[in-house]
Amino acid sequence: MNIQLASHYGMCFGVRDALRLTLDVATDTSVTVLGQLVHNPLVDANLKQLGVHQGSLSDLSKIKTQDVIISAHGASNRQRVLLQNAGLRVTDTTCPLVRKAHDALATLVSSGYLPIIIGQASHAEVMGLVGDYPQCLVILHESDLDQIPECSKFGVISQTTQPLIRVLTLIDLLKRRHANAEVRFIDTICQPTKQRQKALELLCDDCDVIIVIGGHNSNNTQQLLASAQKRGVTAYQIECANELNPSWFQNVNTVGVTAGTSTLDETIRTVIDRLNVIASQK
Ligand code: SF4
Repeated sequence: MNIQLASHYGMCFGVRDALRLTLDVATDTSVTVLGQLVHNPLVDANLKQLGVHQGSLSDLSKIKTQDVIISAHGASNRQRVLLQNAGLRVTDTTCPLVRKAHDALATLVSSGYLPIIIGQASHAEVMGLVGDYPQCLVILHESDLDQIPECSKFGVISQTTQPLIRVLTLIDLLKRRHANAEVRFIDTICQPTKQRQKALELLCDDCDVIIVIGGHNSNNTQQLLASAQKRGVTAYQIECANELNPSWFQNVNTVGVTAGTSTLDETIRTVIDRLNVIASQK
């Protein structure tokens, strides 16, 4: 059995920087991460072992440390002000590409567009975006277009980890439903997400089975899995090597491996090692 790695996979610079900054702060002082630093339970477990506390942006009263960390997913400016007013010392690990999405949204709102975000309403990044502009409409599926009122100017951005194809499809449908309206789209999907999606498409052409490594609540990991399945390739999502099941690889010539942007390098290495063992036993 051949094992083929995607040409782009695994941890992005935004997550690496957030982790490094958090570890730096945690070495010096007691600190609370607001929300999940990155969507990876192994990272959470490591941080817990180091004594890093877990808190929430929505309930500052429970925070027991003076230092807090805003995750790579970002936060609204309103939330930042609340943290400041509470006398907390903030280390902000917001990814610069999430900041770009905030800037794009601000531009659209100040230019008079009705703001629409394509993304998951319950995701920390989207909640941070909506936090400053409660008038934002959040859509993810075609049926969500039903909630969009008549308007002459729509301004659209996307959650950074949405697949381009979904975003373009929804924008096209929006344009058809509101043929007389102006629809301005600022592409805020991040480059690492696009690269991993494109690399996965190429991998699907060569592989019988795809293994996607990443947290079950990681949006970009879920999107990689969904993309492989949409292309008709059998695909499994795992968080660690122990979850690999040798029965998945019967009659498989080539297995493709990719990983979400919050997956640790060591996790990917152990999965490849385990796949090599499975291959040697076939
Ligand atoms: S997935 Fe994209 S937006 Fe999110 S942290 Fe990585 S580079 Fe930044």
